Amino acid sequence: MTDTLTTASNTAGIAQERRVLTAIPGPKSLALQERRLAVVPVGVSSALPVFIERAHGAIVVDVDGNQFIDLGAGIGVMTIGHTDDAVIAAAAAQLGEFTHVMFTITPYEGYVRVAELLAEHTPGDFAKKTVLLNSGAEAVENAVKIARKYTGRTGVAVLDHAYHGRTNLTMAMTYKAMPYKLGFGPFAGEVHHAPNSYPFRDGLSGADAAARTIAYLEKAVGASDLACLVAEPIQGEGGFVVPADGYLPALQEWCTANGIVFIADEIQSGMARTGAYFASEHFGVVPDMVLSAKGIAGGLPIAGVTGRAEIMDASHPGGLGGTFAGNPVAAAAAIAVFDSIESRGLLAEAARIEGVLRPALLALQRKYDVIGDVRGIGAMLAIELVRPGTTDPNPAAVSAITAYAAQHGVLLLSAGTWGNVIRFLPSLAIGDTMLAEAIGVLDEAFASL
Ligand SMILES: *Cc1c(COP(=O)(O)O)cnc(C)c1O
Repeated sequence: MTDTLTTASNTAGIAQERRVLTAIPGPKSLALQERRLAVVPVGVSSALPVFIERAHGAIVVDVDGNQFIDLGAGIGVMTIGHTDDAVIAAAAAQLGEFTHVMFTITPYEGYVRVAELLAEHTPGDFAKKTVLLNSGAEAVENAVKIARKYTGRTGVAVLDHAYHGRTNLTMAMTYKAMPYKLGFGPFAGEVHHAPNSYPFRDGLSGADAAARTIAYLEKAVGASDLACLVAEPIQGEGGFVVPADGYLPALQEWCTANGIVFIADEIQSGMARTGAYFASEHFGVVPDMVLSAKGIAGGLPIAGVTGRAEIMDASHPGGLGGTFAGNPVAAAAAIAVFDSIESRGLLAEAARIEGVLRPALLALQRKYDVIGDVRGIGAMLAIELVRPGTTDPNPAAVSAITAYAAQHGVLLLSAGTWGNVIRFLPSLAIGDTMLAEAIGVLDEAFASL
């Protein structure tokens, strides 16, 4: 794949290269930050207060003309690249047709097409139905709502280190108190946190980790009280934690045996990021419901709950919906993203990125003993930083590395319960040259520690 991209938009002139012209943040960003602090609450903070003006492919350009190699893609949203031609064209065409009528008043084809595409590309060869929403958290909320209606039960099981969103129910389901929950309660009830599989930290086989999860839920809750178990096949905010082999199939088997709806939150891991449409495929699980959001529409807000038809039909007519849910412009963009994944063979691009990035990260691990673990699949890779010779979390090193990278034109995202993970989730449009350049900056950053 070349590093030069073309587009019909006014971002065509953005060279796919790193360029640092000012201090980071530059003077224009600093001025905007001052305005922002006066009118935007501090609760909405930014990892890097650099204001973005334009973006294309894997490059974002700030108001001072600095160009960053984007290894975060807006947390895995811009999977097919910034200002993608096909997405712009599809959304622009729909903008000129109609932007809203509300599907639950009068329907339109785009919604139905997205549901067809999700039915086709989520795991499982059975009849599926999809409800579209606006955000990931809203998808999680609706999945739980439907699972409760279907089972007639109330309990919701989630895993330690999980992230499911910022609404009241999804805060209850999210693991980490700071910054997501502290002081924001009381939270929705009937949510039960069970130990997960975290091979770097627990050393357990998939079978043993699953036995631990199941034993906890059976003792502390009781299987017959559980409507659903919600799990991220690869945990996102939790630090790209890949469960041990056999863990997820064992959970699924237990859910099926006990009438518990097995829900895969693929909001971060889905939509081609791992080289499969959905990461569940790598683990041999076929969830009863799959949740998608982040990467599905090139940055336009839309989310889906896709599940077995008999489960999805549990709600009475009128029980599901939302004013903007399944917005026609976002739906048009989602259709273009699906088409692009197919027509451009983007699943293979995730494997190409892993082929470049994983060996480079393993080489850095051999060189720098602060890197305790290298993990992930496809274009969803991470390194966990520790105090050398231990597994003690080292968030200070993550802060130093991400700050160094930002100063040198590389956008890196942190993650992890202890803030000690750096996650790499670039757009699949990133070329090998830019990846290599970003790795060079990362190497310098570690050397500077
Ligand atoms: C981001 C995320 C969510 C929440 O999505 P929002 O669109 O931010 O509400 C839920 N689950 C996972 C796994 C996520 O990564």
